[in-house]
Amino acid sequence: PSPGRRYALRVTERTLVLVKPDGVERKLVGEVISRIERKGLDIVAMDLRTVERDLAAQHYAEHDGKPFFSSLLEFITSGPVLAAVVEGPRAIAAWRQVAGGTDPVEKATPGSIRGDLALETGSNLVHGSDSPESADREIKLWFPSL
Ligand code: GDP
Ligand code: MG
Repeated sequence: PSPGRRYALRVTERTLVLVKPDGVERKLVGEVISRIERKGLDIVAMDLRTVERDLAAQHYAEHDGKPFFSSLLEFITSGPVLAAVVEGPRAIAAWRQVAGGTDPVEKATPGSIRGDLALETGSNLVHGSDSPESADREIKLWFPSL
């Protein structure tokens, strides 16, 4: 590169997005996809599926042993989920912002999916990977062919 020439640092990330069973049941899939698109993120892969308990346990392995772990597995396997790989600059943080904090009342802010549309932590509509390491792990788990 010639001296003085600037190269924009473009860090494209991928994150795993889920619309959990409550979101599918409440017919909020379109709403969630719309918010992904309006934020400017790209959808790389998408699949509606019912989750096996084994995949659910691996996905939520970090929460194994916590009081809510078994109800979390029960919930996430209770009906179809929409799983998607979403891509863009800072996609992980961007999607966590669009989704809102884990507790839809205490943490999620108005304007976020959870802040606008959810009431309870146990049924907070969506998932998003929390770090590049989690995203890699979760994308391999849900979309091994990617
Ligand atoms: P997230 O990354 O914002 O989804 O939150 P966590 O990774 O901390 O937890 C995973 C999921 O477990 C959350 O989205 C909630 O649905 C659920 N969860 C987390 N903490 C609690 C809790 O204290 N009680 C209940 N019932 N569910 C919880
Ligand atoms: Mg998490």
